[in-house]
Amino acid sequence: MTLDLRDRVRDVPNFPSPGIVFKDLMPLIADPEYFRESIRQLAEWAGPREPDLVLGAEARGFIFGAALAYELDAGFIAARKPGKLPRETVEATYQLEYGTDSLQVHRDSVPRGARVVIIDDVLATGGTARAKIELVEGLGGIVVGIAFVIELTFLGGRERLEGYDVHALISY
Ligand code: AMP
Repeated sequence: MTLDLRDRVRDVPNFPSPGIVFKDLMPLIADPEYFRESIRQLAEWAGPREPDLVLGAEARGFIFGAALAYELDAGFIAARKPGKLPRETVEATYQLEYGTDSLQVHRDSVPRGARVVIIDDVLATGGTARAKIELVEGLGGIVVGIAFVIELTFLGGRERLEGYDVHALISY
């Protein structure tokens, strides 16, 4: 019997701000059976897209991204908040509820023509996913898929990613 990943997602009302229901995936990551099953399902979808690289942003994107890359025999690229990466970077800025934020990757992290799967824990408005697409494509990489553990369908993130191959393991 396959596990229902929903059983290890915890809803945290009013975090990080009033009115937001935060989908906490830490119980899933902490449970060896559920964590392995989530990576198995992500790999089952991403594998046929034959990525050379998996890209994830800190912090939860590192956890799922590194495990997925290992499973697929792909490399992992860390997208980080400004000022964390030691060498020359490129940057993409995205909209937050109040103001903007940015992600950076090393300029030499994506070889031209490399096939890249982008991963994150939650698809909400799609803003951060768009920034990651911009980083990959700006360096000449090809986004062959964008995978999430959770999609919050009522926020319309998928529409912002139109034209891309998008997949989520769980939808709310
Ligand atoms: P967005 O750019 O709006 O798609 O937001 C995606 C990022 O914000 C992801 O990296 C998520 O980890 C985080 N996020 C947004 N909304 C939630 C939520 N309700 N629960 C957990 N994480 C969220």
